[in-house]
Amino acid sequence: MIIAKSQKDLDRMREVGELIAEVREALRGMVGIGVSTLELNRAAEKMIRERGAIPTFIGYHGFPFAICASVNEQIVHGFSNETPLKDGDIISLDMAATYNGFVGDTAFTAPVGEITDELKQLIRVTEECLELGIAQCHPNKRVGDIGWAVQQHAEKYGYGIVRDYTGHGIGRAMHEAPQIANYGRPGTREKIRAGYCFAIEPMLNLGTHETRTLADKWTVVTRDGKPSAHAEHTIAVTADGPEILTLTKEQKAALKKTENETVAA
Ligand code: MG
Repeated sequence: MIIAKSQKDLDRMREVGELIAEVREALRGMVGIGVSTLELNRAAEKMIRERGAIPTFIGYHGFPFAICASVNEQIVHGFSNETPLKDGDIISLDMAATYNGFVGDTAFTAPVGEITDELKQLIRVTEECLELGIAQCHPNKRVGDIGWAVQQHAEKYGYGIVRDYTGHGIGRAMHEAPQIANYGRPGTREKIRAGYCFAIEPMLNLGTHETRTLADKWTVVTRDGKPSAHAEHTIAVTADGPEILTLTKEQKAALKKTENETVAA
């Protein structure tokens, strides 16, 4: 069953969304050559706790870190370690917080130093796929429309679309119904309604879509060892369409400005 949120629930989803977005942007600023994922993990945990929230990932089915840190061919659920990031790497950071009983979940992929044009495009297209998926989130559209929008765009570039891991409903629990695949057929699956909250998260690979899991039982990598990118927002469906919850105050203000300018034009 998909849980529709009340106005009060949505206010709390907004709060936790903004909170985790601020952590995300702080981490984005920390990514660089020589930084280790363990340092990023420590910083993330500290920032989440300082804001009075709980790092949702810690202890989730036994996961030991506040963030998933997935470098290069790692797709998701990467373990943090002391290895310094190096020039030309890409790193995906996925994080979630629980605050006032509700969860916000977000991820991004960032370059380390100077990366190839091929990798720049992979990251850019993954972000575009996220935007296109979000744009489908209007009442009376269907969950299959989201996957279709992501798939259409990713396939133009020949990228492998990860099928083994999906987006999800989100609220009091990090993972609620429905599963939101990054592929699909328009007009299929559950009907989207106002009050639904989704975590939409395309994962695109430079090569095959196939995955395997490392001996740590968590870290998921591409089967062919080629790089992978990930981007995620938590959104709410309103009567007017999608509202991205995992934006910082600044990002929300910038978005509002763009919208007002569009209306004025
Ligand atoms: Mg998620």
